[in-house]
Amino acid sequence: MSTKFIFVTGGVVSSLGKGIAAASIAAVLEARGLKVTMTKMDPYINVDPGTMSPFQHGEVFVTEDGAETDLDLGYYERFLRRSKMSKANNFTSGRIYQTVLAKERRGDYLGGTVQVIPHITDEIKHKIRTSGEGYDIAIIEIGGTVGDIESLPFMEAVRQMQVELGRTHSLLMHLTLVPYIASAGESKTKPTQHSVKELRSIGLQPDVLICRSEQPISEDNRQKIALFTNVEPRGVILCEDAQSIYQIPRRLYEQDLDDLICERFGITAPEADLSDWDKVVDDLFNSQGEIVVAMVGKYVELPDAYKSVNEALLHAGIHNKTKVSIRYVSAEALETDPEAMNQITDVDAILVPGGFGERGTLGKMKAIQFARENNKPFLGICLGMQLAVIEYVRNVLGIEANSTEFDRKTANPIIGLITEWFDEKGELQIRSDDSDLGGTMRLGAQEAELVSNSKLAKIYGSHNITERHRHRYEMNNRYIEPLENAGMKISGYSAKQHLVESVEIDNHPWFVAVQYHPEFTSSPRGGHPLFNSFIKAAIDVKQA
Ligand code: GLN
Repeated sequence: MSTKFIFVTGGVVSSLGKGIAAASIAAVLEARGLKVTMTKMDPYINVDPGTMSPFQHGEVFVTEDGAETDLDLGYYERFLRRSKMSKANNFTSGRIYQTVLAKERRGDYLGGTVQVIPHITDEIKHKIRTSGEGYDIAIIEIGGTVGDIESLPFMEAVRQMQVELGRTHSLLMHLTLVPYIASAGESKTKPTQHSVKELRSIGLQPDVLICRSEQPISEDNRQKIALFTNVEPRGVILCEDAQSIYQIPRRLYEQDLDDLICERFGITAPEADLSDWDKVVDDLFNSQGEIVVAMVGKYVELPDAYKSVNEALLHAGIHNKTKVSIRYVSAEALETDPEAMNQITDVDAILVPGGFGERGTLGKMKAIQFARENNKPFLGICLGMQLAVIEYVRNVLGIEANSTEFDRKTANPIIGLITEWFDEKGELQIRSDDSDLGGTMRLGAQEAELVSNSKLAKIYGSHNITERHRHRYEMNNRYIEPLENAGMKISGYSAKQHLVESVEIDNHPWFVAVQYHPEFTSSPRGGHPLFNSFIKAAIDVKQA
């Protein structure tokens, strides 16, 4: 079967949850036995979000093959079971221009004038087609809102592809807002009408409208939207705010959106079986008790910066049938404000997520020390593991150790770039101020071997695991012996380079820290063993 493409655009305002809506329809189609993939096109000029501040862009999601991507890809993986995202599933205007410019410099265009149409649009179409290879259905989400200048080349590429593919192989889905005006006591359809008009002005007619709203939309309004936008009434899908995003697949299914899509594409597929999604929602809503987890980070005002960690904790709650509430605690406040410690003393567990740079690290270490000394279940991720090691060496061994990320000249670089560990003679290398910080990042899925009898091996029920990475610094192997002698055990090593992957403390109810990012592979249907075990430990300690 040749690939059918569903294009998803957004209108009226941003942040309507285009990625979630797109992923939810993908989930329903997958539940009908179809092979579905998803791609996000981002109209900004950065080549990828890898170097963008979480303030700007939220979390950077890392794929199995090591691409640093938009956080929407996290939703795609959490909603799909049979497809993993890869480098091919996210690209930006910057990436497109980079490719076209490289071709231009190589002389590939044989002296022709290089233009947005056709060269940029051709490159976009090429990337879209490539991303769909081997799949029944490829869902292509276009970032931004219709009317944005920067998304025009993407919209134009979609227009061209619709002509090339024809109606049997392409469909346009537009996400819009139907605001409720309290003073008038009515939902308003005008912004949707305008948004579709805007789409039409660039040659795009939506086939499906997903109408986001706070209040239920009346049947009259649905008919009205259909009439004014030229979309058949059954293509006007109502999507009121949901308590959980995992309810959305069923909502779309109940309005027969999957039937509309399958009919349009001439696909015969079995009925969707959504029982596992129903179970996720049931377990979520029928949880017993509550666990409060303090998440100590730099971006307390911006939960999107830790999107996958938040989701992984929620999944672990679902798995343990317990409500998990996250309390975001400012690492910097822990450094300066003595009162701030009160925010972590009454929680059931403490988590220090990944991060870059020195800001807030002392506060994070205070939280780690508190968890360690007070038997609070603790999970450290990436920077969280590096700081757990530094905290232990400083406060248990009494050695003023540091990471060279924060102090290039530290006498005890327990965390450093691999290139800094040894010189040719096996001596610790002298670090100079001008040495390049940009060692290569360890990115993407890598294998690790877990130490027998470690807590971690028991948690995974295996000695061989594969987890995703995104970091430059590593624990310096020269410090393994003193660390282990002092009671902090290495529980896993990377399969290839024998780098420290994880540490744990024996005489503590649950103190585990890992160099990798388990949050990227947690799914609502099953959770992740590490997060599941962390929350289980928090429940056990609370009940003890
Ligand atoms: N800043 C640390 C490093 O580069 C940790 C990175 C992270 O937490 N993702 O190694």
